[in-house]
Amino acid sequence: MRGCAKASAFVQPRGCRMKQILYMEPVLKERIWGGERLRDFGYSLQSDRVGECWGVSAHPNGCCRVRSGPYDGRTLADLWSSERELFGGAEGEDFPLLIKLIDARTDLSIQVHPDDRYAFENENGAKGKTECWYVVDATEGATIIIGHHAESREEFRRMVGEHRYSELLREIPVKAGDFFQIDPGCVHAIKGGTLILETQTNSDVTYRIYDYDRLQNGALRPLHTKQAIDVVEAPFCEAKSRPEKTVTRIGDCTLTCFSRRPQYTVYLAETDGTADIPLSGMFHTMSVLSGSGFIDGSRVTKGDHLILSAGYGNICAVGSFTAMITRV
Ligand code: ZN
Repeated sequence: MRGCAKASAFVQPRGCRMKQILYMEPVLKERIWGGERLRDFGYSLQSDRVGECWGVSAHPNGCCRVRSGPYDGRTLADLWSSERELFGGAEGEDFPLLIKLIDARTDLSIQVHPDDRYAFENENGAKGKTECWYVVDATEGATIIIGHHAESREEFRRMVGEHRYSELLREIPVKAGDFFQIDPGCVHAIKGGTLILETQTNSDVTYRIYDYDRLQNGALRPLHTKQAIDVVEAPFCEAKSRPEKTVTRIGDCTLTCFSRRPQYTVYLAETDGTADIPLSGMFHTMSVLSGSGFIDGSRVTKGDHLILSAGYGNICAVGSFTAMITRV
C-alpha cells in the first residue's frame, strides 16, 4: 500500500482551530413502514419497524450528538450555533442538511415538495426542500416512484381528481447503486424493499398526494392535494432526476459525483487501498455504507456518520470502504 502524502501541504484557513472529525450518534426512528435491515449497519434496533436512521441531523425532532473527541456529548444544533468556525463560512440559522438511511419494508406515501419561494409564501417563511437518494440495497423486483405521466398541470389535476394514480404515477425498477435527484416539484415515493441513503435540505414541508387509502390508527392521513398541484412540475423532466455523473480516480479511490445543486454536492467515494482525497474548504459530511478503514488514522466502519470540519484539507483514506460524502 502506498502512503498518503503528508498533511503538511495543508494550510489552515484563518479562524479554523484544527482539523476535526465529528462522529455523530445516529437517531433511529420507528415507522409503520420500517423494517429490520438497519441492524446490518451496526445499530441496535428496539423494534422490527425501524424505518429511519438520522445520521447527520440538527433537527429538533432528532438531533445527533457527537460521540467522541473534544465535543463529546454536544448536539450538532449546539455546535452549529456556538462553534460556527467548525463549519467555515456557512450561513443560516439552521444546520442546512439532514442525512438519513431509510429502510422501507412497505410503501411510503406519494409526495412532492415546494421550492423556497412557495414555502416562504405559503408555509410561514419555511424553506423548500431538495433531496436525493442513493440506493444502497433493493430486493428483487423493487420499484420506486419518480415523476408522473401527465402532460400538464391541468391534466395532473384531472387525473388526481379521478384517482387514476396507477396511470398517473411513473413507477420504475430500482437496484443498488442507482441515484435519483429530487428537486422541488418532483413527485416521488420510496416503495417496499428499498434501502436508501437520503441527503436532503433541512426542511419539513411535504405535500402528500396519495397514501394508497391506508388507515393509520383508524384514519386516513391528511392529503395536501391543492398545494401538491400548485408545486408539481408538469410535464415531468426525467433528465433532472438522473443528472450526469462524473467519475474521477484518486489513488485507490473512485470518486463519483452524482449531483451538484446550489444546496449540496454529493459524491460516492469507493476506496480500496490508500487515497489522498482533497476536500474543498467547506465542511463535509460522510456516511459509511459498507466496509471499514481509516480516515487520517481514525477508524471508520459501515454505519458511521461523521462531519469533517471546514478547512480540513486532504483526507488520507486507507482500507476498503464505500462512503457518501456531501458538502454544501
Ligand atoms: Zn421527499
